[in-house]
Amino acid sequence: MVVDKFRLNGKVAIVTGSARGLGRGIAVGLAEAGADIAGVYNQTDPVQTQKEIESLGRKFIGISADLRSQKPVNGIVEKAVKRFGRIDILVNNAGIIRRRESIEFTEKDWDDVMNLNLKSLFVLCQAFARRVIQQGGGGKIINIASMLSFQGGILVPSYTASKSGVMGLTKLLANEWAQYDINVNAIAPGYMATDNTEPLRNDPKRSAELLGRIPMGKWGLPEDLKGAAVFFASDASSYVTGHTLAVDGGWLAR
Ligand code: NAD
Repeated sequence: MVVDKFRLNGKVAIVTGSARGLGRGIAVGLAEAGADIAGVYNQTDPVQTQKEIESLGRKFIGISADLRSQKPVNGIVEKAVKRFGRIDILVNNAGIIRRRESIEFTEKDWDDVMNLNLKSLFVLCQAFARRVIQQGGGGKIINIASMLSFQGGILVPSYTASKSGVMGLTKLLANEWAQYDINVNAIAPGYMATDNTEPLRNDPKRSAELLGRIPMGKWGLPEDLKGAAVFFASDASSYVTGHTLAVDGGWLAR
């Protein structure tokens, strides 16, 4: 039955940025479908995520790491494997944004964003794929892209560069790793109500402009990503790879 293909029972997922926002929504969604979760976090403790996942009867391990550096990456995979014995799914969700006019943009705001949003994402994909190949193949990678994977945006040069890179890299890795039965896809959230968009939501003019342009007329919520995440993490999407799926209330259709 097709609904059975969406089940993730017995699967283990690493989710970065799992303590809040979209990462928490995705981690809980995967757990609702049956997966155990290795939740990577930075600064914010993932107590709420852990509580929600354990109340579903699933297991959770929190792994602290600052992913502006690539040094913690191998340790993340090792800790997840030590706790659960295997890994099947990787969600590269952790990401930051820095807003400033390009003419004044600093090297630090370029490097921090590119290091976390793109370089660590790539190195995590590598470490995940190496482990999955060692396990005999078969894995699912979900990268979190953005509307700015498709569009230019304004005032966020390193963010646009990183998220455009995420969409390109998703396609390249899909091509290279299909031979290992690793599907590599991305979700491009639209404008979602999280800390990432707080400055936009607090600016009445910008907020009204954005809402007026979203066909569904509302900000998205972390729960809105659960369906796409479970689809890409499960056998339901076994012949889908290299795709970036917009979950955007119609923004790109406009
Ligand atoms: P958020 O600010 O609530 O979450 C960001 C997450 O990244 C947090 O869990 C945080 O702990 C983690 N993080 C930040 N710095 C880190 C570091 N140095 N090392 C490790 N982890 C770190 O925002 P969000 O909206 O939940 O963002 C999640 C992802 O979704 C990001 O990749 C973001 O770019 C993307 N996204 C968000 C929106 C939106 O509208 N909110 C739209 C498109 C894409």
